Amino acid sequence: MKAVVVGAGIAGLVAARQLGLAGWDVELCEKSSAPRSDGYMMDFFGPGVDAAERIGLYPRLAAVSYHVEAVEYIDAAGYLTASLDYDRFARLAGGNVLSLLRPDMERAALAALDDVDPGLVRVRYGAQVSRVWSDQDGARVEVEGSPDVTLAADVLIGADGIHSGVRAQVFGPEGEYLHPLGMRAAAFIVTEPLLNGRFRNRFVLTDTVDRMAGLYNLRSDEVAALMVYRDVTGATGHERSGSPRERLRREFAGLGDAVERVLELCPEHPYDDVVAQIVMPGWQKGRVVLVGDACGAVSLLAGQGGSLAIAGAALLGDILGPVASPKGIGPALAEFERRWGPVVEEAQIAGRRAATSFLPRNRPQRFLRRWIIRATHLPGIDRLVARQIVGRIAKQASRGQGRNQAKTIALPLETPPIHKG
Ligand SMILES: Cc1cc2nc3c(=O)[nH]c(=O)nc-3n(C[C@H](O)[C@H](O)[C@H](O)COP(=O)(O)OP(=O)(O)OC[C@H]3O[C@@H](n4cnc5c(N)ncnc54)[C@H](O)[C@@H]3O)c2cc1C
Repeated sequence: MKAVVVGAGIAGLVAARQLGLAGWDVELCEKSSAPRSDGYMMDFFGPGVDAAERIGLYPRLAAVSYHVEAVEYIDAAGYLTASLDYDRFARLAGGNVLSLLRPDMERAALAALDDVDPGLVRVRYGAQVSRVWSDQDGARVEVEGSPDVTLAADVLIGADGIHSGVRAQVFGPEGEYLHPLGMRAAAFIVTEPLLNGRFRNRFVLTDTVDRMAGLYNLRSDEVAALMVYRDVTGATGHERSGSPRERLRREFAGLGDAVERVLELCPEHPYDDVVAQIVMPGWQKGRVVLVGDACGAVSLLAGQGGSLAIAGAALLGDILGPVASPKGIGPALAEFERRWGPVVEEAQIAGRRAATSFLPRNRPQRFLRRWIIRATHLPGIDRLVARQIVGRIAKQASRGQGRNQAKTIALPLETPPIHKG
C-alpha cells in the first residue's frame, strides 16, 4: 500500500513513520527546503504524551526538552505580579509535562524515521504540493515546478497545517473552516546572552491587557519570544499588510526593557499569524484524509496542538497501517474520524474557554487572573483551579487515563460555540 503525505510538520512526520513501520510505501512532501528552524516554546501534555510513549517517540522528545521552574507574570517595570510553580502545578494537573521548542519536536520526529526500514519512507524537502486529485482508484499530487511529475498513492494524507492547501482543494475554501479567535500570535528567537541569563528556567509573561509578551531562555544564549495581541480585523493567515516587525514594535511598545530589547532584535519576517481553530464537519473524502492542524487546529490557547498532532497521527497509523487492500481504506478513514473527532472537539472547547484569561480585555479581568494565579498557592484552591484550567483531561489524568497541564492560565469564563460546516 502506498501513501503520499503532504507536510513534514509533527503530524506528517508521525503519520509517515507509523505507516512506514506498518510496511507502507510513503512519499512525504514538504515545501520548506529543510526542516524549519523557526519556532516557539510549546507545552507537551495530554493525549500526545501517551501516544508518544506508545510509539517510542517519548524518549527522543524528553531528550530535547527544557526544564521550566515557574511561570512568572511581570509588570512594565519588571516587578513580579503573580507566579505559578510549574512542577507543582504539573503534578496537580496530572503530571508528565514536557516543554519543547517546536523545531526540536519536529527534528525528534524526523530522527525517529530511522526506526523505519530504509527506503520505505522518502522525505522530499523543497517539494511544495500544488495540485491534488482523488477518485475511487486513489489519489495523486503534483509538485510545484514539476508539472510533468505526479505522485500517485492509495491514500493522500493532508498534514499541511492550519492553512492547508489539500483542505482547500478537496474540502473547500479556508473561510468555511477557519475561525479566528480575535488575536494574532508572533514568535521568534533572538540571541541575547544578558536576557538569557536573566530568565533562567522561568517563563516570563507580561501581565497586560489586550497583549502579552512571553520570554523564555534557550540553550546557546538564545531567548524565545512569543507575542500575542488582540486583532479584530478578522484577517486570516498572512493577509495583514505592512511589516510584521513594525507592527509588533507598535503593538508591544512600553512593556519594559526586556520586551523592547527582543523587539530590537526581532527578525524582519517573524512567524506572525492569526490565532484560530479549524472546525470541519468531516476530515475524509474518498482517498484523502486530513490530520493535525489541517483538520482540527485547536490554537495555542488550548496548548495542545502539537500533542494532538502526534496522537492523531499515531492513531491514524494504528487504524490505516493494517489495511492491506484498497477496499479497507474508506472504512479505516471513517473510523479514524469517528474516534478522533470527539477528542479534538473537547480540546477546541477548552481553547475557546481560555481566550478571556489568556488575554484579559480590561483591568478587572487582569486582576481576576492575578488573583486566581495567586490562589493556586493555597491548599485546596490549587486543585480547584487546576481542574478549572485543564478541564476534563485533568480529571481523566487523575483517574490514570491521561496526563495534562497547561501554561495558559484559563478560566471557564466564556465558551462561544462554533458550528461545524
Ligand atoms: C505561537 C504558537 C504556540 C503554540 N504553543 C503550543 C503549545 O504550547 N503546545 C502545543 O501542543 N501546541 C502549541 N501550538 C500548536 C502547534 O504548534 C501546532 O498545533 C502543531 O505544530 C501542528 O502540527 P502540524 O504538523 O499539524 O502542522 P504544521 O506544524 O503547521 O506543519 C505543516 C507542514 O506542512 C508544510 N506545508 C504546508 N503546505 C504545504 C504544501 N503545499 N506542500 C508541502 N508542504 C506543505 C509546512 O511547511 C509545514 O512544515 C502552538 C502554535 C503556535 C502558533
